[in-house]
Amino acid sequence: MRAARFHARRDVRIDDVPKPEDLAPDEVLVRNRFCGICGTDLHEYVDGPIFISPTPNVFSGASVPQILGHEFSGEIEAVGREVRHLHPGDRVAIQPHMGPLDGYFGSRGLHFLAPGGAATGLTWPWGGFAEYAVMKAYATVKMPDGLSFEQGAMVEPAAVAVTACDRSGLEPGGTILVTGGGPIGVLAVMAAHAAGAGKIFLSEPNAARRHRVESLGLPVITIDPTRSDLKTLVQQETFEGLGCDAAIECAGNPRAINDCIAAVRPRGTVVLIGLTNAKAEISPFDLIVRDIRLQGSLCYPTTLWPRIYAMIESGRLPVTILIDEVVPLGDLIEKGFEPLVDPAGTKLKILVDVTA
Ligand SMILES: [Zn+2]
Repeated sequence: MRAARFHARRDVRIDDVPKPEDLAPDEVLVRNRFCGICGTDLHEYVDGPIFISPTPNVFSGASVPQILGHEFSGEIEAVGREVRHLHPGDRVAIQPHMGPLDGYFGSRGLHFLAPGGAATGLTWPWGGFAEYAVMKAYATVKMPDGLSFEQGAMVEPAAVAVTACDRSGLEPGGTILVTGGGPIGVLAVMAAHAAGAGKIFLSEPNAARRHRVESLGLPVITIDPTRSDLKTLVQQETFEGLGCDAAIECAGNPRAINDCIAAVRPRGTVVLIGLTNAKAEISPFDLIVRDIRLQGSLCYPTTLWPRIYAMIESGRLPVTILIDEVVPLGDLIEKGFEPLVDPAGTKLKILVDVTA
């Protein structure tokens, strides 16, 4: 079968690898359909290996060359002998995190926090940018009939955004700022809208990105943080000029982190999901005297999929409006990775049709 494998930085190849055959009793074989290209894939491509392990992962044994892709949907082709809840022909979306189920975190649906876990497309021998993948059955979630395979490929990034929104404490009618208009930022806007936000602000310095977001028809006030005073603007638009109730930082930018802290009202919450290694200078004094909660948010509970399915199916999370293009697996690098790492690029989301 064909599979896109990471060999080294800037060296991702479409290789011919043996189709997986042997399933453990608790595993399933998925015939993959669509897989989304994520910022994580791009970071691995440009600066990797980051999450990808050069030495065998303790749980899964995976190492370089690593099949990429963790945002995907597909159809069950075969199931291990202990699998009861899935059957050949079932349409599924992948929850990428696997690991021991008996530890503190594994037993709580928080595998990504457990030492010795693995994620498909990064630290598991299989991934979404391939014709087939072997998955643990518990990480393979049957989709409702009303969901398309394209929508299924958007569930994982949507889960990141919905979790951040949950953790922001946003209530119906509340106000929220999102910084960074990439795919996760736009999904955070959608999640806030679905959660009943009264007013949503989105800060994005790239004009082309801003216009792309404005064209999506979401109820959002876009702001160029390089041209206007973000804090003043948000305060002018919120009750008694106090600032917004919550903020979700999706840019991975120290300046944006401080924009979020400045824009929330006293006792507001700032959730960080934009990954960065950069150091941010923040004022503990300001956090304390304004009683601000600063919250990191990684992934999602691995049990979240049914909720995301319901939000997409009801139309409250119109995830496919983000998709700019669908490309065949053979064009992953030229038409997928390269346009997305181009700083002048305006594309939000590219899906790969691995059957094309
Ligand atoms: Zn991702």
